[in-house]
Amino acid sequence: MYRNMYEKILYPTDFSEAAGKAIPYIIGLKGADVKEVIILYVIDERGIDTFRNSTAIDALVIEREWEGHALNEIASLAEKLKGQGFNATSQIEKGIPFREIIRVAEEEDVSLIIMGSHGKSDIVEMLLGSVTDNVVRKTQKPVLVVKR
Ligand code: ATP
Ligand code: MN
Repeated sequence: MYRNMYEKILYPTDFSEAAGKAIPYIIGLKGADVKEVIILYVIDERGIDTFRNSTAIDALVIEREWEGHALNEIASLAEKLKGQGFNATSQIEKGIPFREIIRVAEEEDVSLIIMGSHGKSDIVEMLLGSVTDNVVRKTQKPVLVVKR
């Protein structure tokens, strides 16, 4: 027997405009028996390392601000999806984004990953951003890549 292919959706986002392009595709699955949408933001630990070059206090302040910003963004996305009638949950992890996305997809045993082709960098010449490139290459899960 096939189980529902859209039951549990993972939506990894960096809150960029390009990542936002995936949202209509999530909403478009309404009525396809979606039971849960997990919104995931990964705080890139390598980004934090860069800040470590400044003073320890500066790094800590920047990290706290960053986390606060992410909490606000993810909460408003969850509200938006709840407003559309979805059971939306959110997760914030720290690490290498593509690794965390693949790990959460496995651990939560999601049915589908929906993500943007590009993110914050949005480099014109790139066919895919590096996070999406790595996720598509390395996950066993189906991925819906929404173009910018
Ligand atoms: P690059 O990061 O390689 O310079 P980019 O920023 O244009 O390029 P990606 O980072 O690969 O592209 O972003 C593509 C998609 O990956 C985004 O639309 C989003 O769905 C997901 N994504 C990117 N960064 C994160 C993150 N930190 N946490 C969760 N999802 C992310
Ligand atoms: Mn990026």
